[in-house]
Amino acid sequence: MERREFLKRTGAVALGAATSAALQTERVWAGEKFLWNMVTTWTPGMSVLQTGAQRFAERIKEMSGGRLLIQVYAGGELVPPMGVFDAVSGGMVQLGSGASYYWAGKVAAAQWFTSVPFGMNAQGMNAWLGSGGLKLWEEIYDPYNLLPRPFGNTGMQMGGWFRKEINSVTDFKGLKMRIPGLGGKVVAKAGGTVVLQPAADIFTSLERGVIDATEWVGPMHDLRMGFYKAAPYYYYPGWHEPGSCLELMINKKAYLSLPKDLQMVIDCAAMECNIWTLNEFEAGNGAALTELVEKHKVQLRRFPESLLVTLKKLSEETLEEEAAKEKTSQKVHAAFKKFKKENGNWGAISEKAYYDLMG
Ligand code: CA
Repeated sequence: MERREFLKRTGAVALGAATSAALQTERVWAGEKFLWNMVTTWTPGMSVLQTGAQRFAERIKEMSGGRLLIQVYAGGELVPPMGVFDAVSGGMVQLGSGASYYWAGKVAAAQWFTSVPFGMNAQGMNAWLGSGGLKLWEEIYDPYNLLPRPFGNTGMQMGGWFRKEINSVTDFKGLKMRIPGLGGKVVAKAGGTVVLQPAADIFTSLERGVIDATEWVGPMHDLRMGFYKAAPYYYYPGWHEPGSCLELMINKKAYLSLPKDLQMVIDCAAMECNIWTLNEFEAGNGAALTELVEKHKVQLRRFPESLLVTLKKLSEETLEEEAAKEKTSQKVHAAFKKFKKENGNWGAISEKAYYDLMG
């Protein structure tokens, strides 16, 4: 049956009868509109992250033929950046975006879904989430009436910006660093003082010496954040966040109230945003790094090998300790570790073997 003919017939039935099936048809036929709100942890206009959320909303409007309209608010516009979780969970808004490790104080196991120190890269994270990881994530968010979706991977991050040189693990003693998630717990174990701050506050803190160091994302975003004006040393690799997955959180009750096709529109748009974000970062980082080094004379440094070995050991200990604290973290950690091992074995003879040849 032609779609138009189908709609005409079922629409006519729906207008006359009030069976639940007919009502469902009537919704489609009448083009019921859903007006949703979305809050993020990002600053207004922040490239890729906030603009990605806006892009997501625009694409949903197009894909749904204007049936699902989403108003996007940056951090602080409707709720504070760190108020996103409660706003979506409590049903004040239907959608939120940020990073799951921001909610470590509420849901410890959520940290594993952003990134794990010495964990997997973007490819590995996406593979894990696509083959069981997301199910686990859904399970741990379920008690909060939340449905998570991967919403953009940053790719490999940088180690961060430091006001002084870092030569050994002793340089972390007393170091005040903005670094969230499990990586932050490793820095704390190394003797540092971990500070958690939303994006909007980091530059000023670093510039005024309230913090001695910060990590953020990678060259493209870090350049725009202006960190090079506040700290001269830019370290790599980002051992603490080798492939950070950002999140979309959906109020589950609101999601289930949508017709099936609109649920799928959200899912597909989120998945598209996930890969779009990685593409944006990967495309922009190379040129931004050149600009940081050549134009802004940034001191680009690799963390000393012995320090990385120590940090890796501290990371393994931290992960076991954090996982042992509660049941869900233990379950997620075990699943992550198992997948990482298999993924790593394959990666060693595929990506790793090829990478140096690529030049
Ligand atoms: Ca980061």
